[in-house]
Amino acid sequence: MQVPLLDLKGQYPTIKEDILTVAKEIFESQYFILGPHVQKLEEAIAEYCQCPYAVGVSSGTDALLISLMAAQIGPGDEVITTPYTFFATAGVIARVGATPVFVDIKEDTYNIDPVLIEARITERTRAIMPVHLYGQCADMDPIMDIARKRSLVVIEDAAQAIGAEYKKKRAGSMGDFGCFSFFPSKNLGAFGDGGIVTTRSKEYYDLLKTLRVHGSSPKYFHKMIGGNFRLDALQAAIVFVKLKYLDTWTEKRQANAKQYRKLFREQGLDRTMGLPREVENLHIYNQFTILAPDQRDELKAYLADSGIGTEIYYPVPMHLQECFRPLGYKKGDFPVAEDAARRTLALPIYPEIPDEQQAYVVEKIKAFYT
Ligand SMILES: *Cc1c(COP(=O)(O)O)cnc(C)c1O
Repeated sequence: MQVPLLDLKGQYPTIKEDILTVAKEIFESQYFILGPHVQKLEEAIAEYCQCPYAVGVSSGTDALLISLMAAQIGPGDEVITTPYTFFATAGVIARVGATPVFVDIKEDTYNIDPVLIEARITERTRAIMPVHLYGQCADMDPIMDIARKRSLVVIEDAAQAIGAEYKKKRAGSMGDFGCFSFFPSKNLGAFGDGGIVTTRSKEYYDLLKTLRVHGSSPKYFHKMIGGNFRLDALQAAIVFVKLKYLDTWTEKRQANAKQYRKLFREQGLDRTMGLPREVENLHIYNQFTILAPDQRDELKAYLADSGIGTEIYYPVPMHLQECFRPLGYKKGDFPVAEDAARRTLALPIYPEIPDEQQAYVVEKIKAFYT
């Protein structure tokens, strides 16, 4: 049996007709950048994420970058974030000339531990950048309390968490900025790169729209330096079509998570395997990540030999990345993140995965450990 980590071919037939229709319209109009399709998507995502405003951008990475630029964070500033995330989160902080300051994660959600934030705040701290990893929100109430008390900007990296909720509030609606990615493997993926920033501030909204087009307003008059962070009409139109299905896909992912729990229980593996914990309300399961007791890499290889695709998100925490060596961190600084990097493994959980394939995955994990 072949079980891919993600198979997007399963969902394509359900959306194909709508996508070909809108693609044809765009090809015939020959209007490719920004425009009405982008605006329509911005309005729909803003509503979906319970925010008044959204600005379509070129990727999730650029969503984070443009947010830092809008908050005027740069050289001399420090931004607190998690060491256990995709590289983009920490990379953009360094790219604007600021310093990433890492804080360890919580064992239950793999998200930044708010209890540890206060001790790392200095007079240079300008922002906190929590990541809602795997599709579950970080513990936002204490983060927002600290931010309000110290007048810090909060940029939510919600790239993996569109539609996830924390105390009934949607990811991207709690901080000053919510950053989303339409990379194809995210729950709401484009047919290429794309992203969006949500915000509750009209002032930030206007800034984001200006920064997206090289800081020009009106055209060819630059009051500030921005970049080319524009979203394509075609990607926006495709994401708009897919948005209609997002809740159904999310429900399927949640049902698949439930099914995994049942299968692991039936195999007597539910305690040894470290199954994901649902702590902060609505988890949208961009990943179903287990914590292997030991031999994670051997388990991954064994599953690959059995035709099962898995992935390690992420094998090297940010503080131990070669490019961040000048920051002066060392092994042992963030034990929870380092342990996660050694032991996590993401299993296939895409909406259309057949039941028998999920059963096969768990059987093979059982076979490996017995
Ligand atoms: C995917 C992702 C990003 C970057 O998104 P791109 O669209 O690939 O640039 C940023 N942060 C996290 C946590 C992600 O998972």
